Amino acid sequence: MGLAMQNCTPLVTRFAPSPNGPLHLGHALSAIIAHDLARASGGRFLLRIEDIDGPRSRAELADDFRRDLEWLGLEWDEVPAQSTRLESYAAAAEALRARGLLYRCACTRKQIEAAGAVAGSDGLIYPGTCKRNPPDPAHPAAWRLDADKAGTQTGALVWEDALAGKQAVDLSVHGDVVLMRKDLPASYHLAVTLDDAADGVTLVTRGADLFAASHVHRTLQALLGLPVPRWHHHPLLTDATGQKLSKRRGSPALSDRRESGEDGRMLAQQLRLQQLSLGT
Ligand code: GLU
Repeated sequence: MGLAMQNCTPLVTRFAPSPNGPLHLGHALSAIIAHDLARASGGRFLLRIEDIDGPRSRAELADDFRRDLEWLGLEWDEVPAQSTRLESYAAAAEALRARGLLYRCACTRKQIEAAGAVAGSDGLIYPGTCKRNPPDPAHPAAWRLDADKAGTQTGALVWEDALAGKQAVDLSVHGDVVLMRKDLPASYHLAVTLDDAADGVTLVTRGADLFAASHVHRTLQALLGLPVPRWHHHPLLTDATGQKLSKRRGSPALSDRRESGEDGRMLAQQLRLQQLSLGT
């Protein structure tokens, strides 16, 4: 893979699926890219199961994921699943809270919509209701990162994407994201940033749909004194109508293709050729 040739340092990459639905071709591509970049550099490819979605996380799907990766001909080192790391998430959130960087938010999605929130890179940008009027301490609440305060503490930051180049951090595309959900001492942003640091990931490889999340992750790295990796956001596969593949739209599951007797290694080779033509 062209990109790995530019970097002789052994890379640590990872594939970090959430077991809330079966893997599809887009996941296969992501895993193959991360795997091949690590291997070409003499580094390590990690599998991390991101199972903190409560009842939506299903252990049997994680087993399917391992079978899918094996079927594609990939080899990996598995690191602990997110559900085993809740204490480290809580400790980091506490450190941020002690510095006045988090505030409680009791808003429901409906309330956020009703408050006229505008769309950001990843859902609605929180309009700041609970920042202005803190909720009753008795109400269950999430904790949000105060993006203005965070930006003041970190100053200007940059991060680097292997394909898109240097990026200036811009938290305005997200607003005040949730770092601790109402039901959990973590959120996607907090958990993934801490885990990538704990797992020694040096190249965060994932689909371009998560590109903007890296602004948040780079900010958290600065606030928490974590090492800064590089990123590789690869273009997404689309279906015949040009829509990105997704669990929600019911894109064909790898496990079905595997169980039907299809040759997974051949499929992986086809995806490699296809992504070369996408320029990744
Ligand atoms: N767990 C996330 C997902 O399945 C991916 C996280 C990441 O690659 O940063 O969409």
